[in-house]
Amino acid sequence: MRLIFLAPPGSGKGTQGARLMKEYNILQLSTGDILRENKKRGTKLGKEARYYMDAGELVPDEIITAMLKEEIIKPEYQTGFILDGFPRTKFQAKALEEILEEMNLKLDAAIILEVPKQELISRLSARRTCRKCGKTYHLIFNPPQEPDTCDAPCFGHLFQRADDTKETILNRLKVYERNTSPLIEYFEETGIAIHINGLGSVDEVYDRIKHSLAAINTHVEVKK
Ligand code: AMP
Repeated sequence: MRLIFLAPPGSGKGTQGARLMKEYNILQLSTGDILRENKKRGTKLGKEARYYMDAGELVPDEIITAMLKEEIIKPEYQTGFILDGFPRTKFQAKALEEILEEMNLKLDAAIILEVPKQELISRLSARRTCRKCGKTYHLIFNPPQEPDTCDAPCFGHLFQRADDTKETILNRLKVYERNTSPLIEYFEETGIAIHINGLGSVDEVYDRIKHSLAAINTHVEVKK
């Protein structure tokens, strides 16, 4: 199964992707996570990306596409993957198509998670992320058991991402509208777009995704 998410920041693509990963036994490839890791380690890529990330802007297409290509050809992605955060521009969508063509592969579905803007702002402003395992919490609707601490067995420290502040959130949503939302039409034309209502509990949204995926003709069986 090869999936992409076309979904604004805060729509739950990371959370839903993590569940799909278990269900289909495939890996999630998050360009945001890879960049954050590089930023933390202070690599050349991390230094290049830092300015864009902190401002809520997109890292230039050439940089991110080269990074994605290097990653996706690794053996662990050959049985399938869930792309979280890529593609975000038409350039990237075309590049992905070419990369997959070279590998003789095709995408099975583009999951479009639909969540109203106000809800996205609320979710992102109250989001806290575990520094150790990456799990996310919502301070009001899904708080950790202990303040600032990830639940057992991780117990990592929770922090607010540098780009989860009010001003940067608004910019990220604007960037999504401008650069990424036009891709919805692009993937509708290729016939693989699946529209999912992203409101409701994590379980409810996940069930919608699972049912939609079961309805498409794929070669991978859903684990019972
Ligand atoms: P995310 O965790 O997916 O919200 O990504 C965090 C940040 O990483 C984004 O706001 C961008 O600055 C950068 N980023 C991640 N994926 C991409 C991409 N496909 N194209 C450009 N920038 C990206």
